[in-house]
Amino acid sequence: MHLQNPALFRQAACVGTNWHDATAPHTIAVTNPATGKVIGQVPDLGAAETRAAIEAAEIAQKAWAARTAADRSAVLRRWFDLILDNKSDLATILTCEQGKPLLEAAGEIEYGASFIEWFAEEGKRVYGDLIPGHQRDKRILVLKQPVGVVAAITPWNFPMAMITRKAAPALAAGCAMVLKPAEQTPFSAIALAVLAEEAGLPKGLFSVLTGSAREIGGEMTANARVRKLTFTGSTEVGAKLYRQSAATIKKLALELGGNAPFIVFDDADIEAAVEGAIVAKFRNNGQTCVCANRIYVQEAVYDAFADRLAAAVGRLVTGNGCDDGVVLGPLIDAAALEKVEAHVFDAVCGGARVLVGARRHSLGGTFYEATVLADVTAGMAVAREETFGPVAALFRFRDEADVIAQANDTEFGLASYIYARDLSRVFRVAEALEYGMVGVNTGLISTAAAPFGGTKQSGLGREGSRYGLEEFLELKYVCLGGI
Ligand code: ADP
Repeated sequence: MHLQNPALFRQAACVGTNWHDATAPHTIAVTNPATGKVIGQVPDLGAAETRAAIEAAEIAQKAWAARTAADRSAVLRRWFDLILDNKSDLATILTCEQGKPLLEAAGEIEYGASFIEWFAEEGKRVYGDLIPGHQRDKRILVLKQPVGVVAAITPWNFPMAMITRKAAPALAAGCAMVLKPAEQTPFSAIALAVLAEEAGLPKGLFSVLTGSAREIGGEMTANARVRKLTFTGSTEVGAKLYRQSAATIKKLALELGGNAPFIVFDDADIEAAVEGAIVAKFRNNGQTCVCANRIYVQEAVYDAFADRLAAAVGRLVTGNGCDDGVVLGPLIDAAALEKVEAHVFDAVCGGARVLVGARRHSLGGTFYEATVLADVTAGMAVAREETFGPVAALFRFRDEADVIAQANDTEFGLASYIYARDLSRVFRVAEALEYGMVGVNTGLISTAAAPFGGTKQSGLGREGSRYGLEEFLELKYVCLGGI
């Protein structure tokens, strides 16, 4: 890995006020999913280090919360600037551990950094309230204060952005954060901690713990000093952390799985819908929780849409994310590849038609061909579960009522997409979809300015926007008497 600033690739975890080097034999190897080669080692930490990080966080948080919001904002702004200054190196680290193409990785660095810029500003606007008293001599004052020490657990699909959209609001609000990044992608998180230190973030305020998910997660949830847990990952692990957090009544934010419907009505701009479907389905090689998982196309435009989508998907270039021209990288690991294969196999056995792809890629490893399947139906695995891979599954629908019923027939409720021109229809359908987010005539909905999050088993809470800041604030009511 060639970096202009080699200090960013640090084989160490940041535990409280200290760096903990990876020293054999207590290390975990990190591999490049495009080559299968080991790129480095991180320390294998557990409950004791997590406890130490939480204790350091508690001390650092009090001093941090006592500073002015403008002061905190200035530190966050320096962190943002440093991230952008080092964009190319951070993208290289990200691609080497995660697999996404360099251009997409650089996009994630910018997107991830945008949360820091946004919350550095928004942190200055934590306004309270003064409510008229319920008695003549009383006034009701409402303060918003940081919740305290926050634990975060993040996934591998966005090794940088899933961290910043938790850390930026937490730190801007005056909280401290103890983070466990995904075991597949710790180096992006560690690089963020290196830059946080350079930006002047006080020691102990932001720890990055690598190691046993069970042990670190166990301590994070059991430790009463941790007041909030924010998690992005599978519904299964989210439910487990929810249960584990019950004993200490922690606040929770859970960004869990999705099963996004992408609906193309017969009055849609078909070219735009194909373009939107490519973005919504194939970004990050289909490995995002807002990826279109079920593409519903109205009967009259089904064949035209399917032909155009298959032609466009056939042109997508799969390969090592470090190579020029590549737009789809490998899948993260063998288990991901097996899931994609199993979904395609199940669909084809059930009568789905392969329009393009549907095979392991000739590159070997965890590469899979970009795939379009037609005539997919509700009972198939691709319809029930998140495929998390480069497989576009096309379903047919008759009318509005039919597609709303099909789209809502899932336990998930994260993202959804509609392509249509009729404004009344857009409103009706957007309101009827049981999802936290609806993209209308767009396949890309994530931004620091909007509240991202899901309903049903897709989670709790929102990230981004002023609502994302509220997640890290506690209300305190002060009753002023004798006035
Ligand atoms: P994914 O399918 O994206 O890998 P996971 O939910 O398995 O989703 O992983 C998301 C994050 O949750 C990762 O950082 C992973 O290490 C962590 N994780 C997995 N199991 C546990 C657990 N038992 N306790 C705490 N964290 C866990």
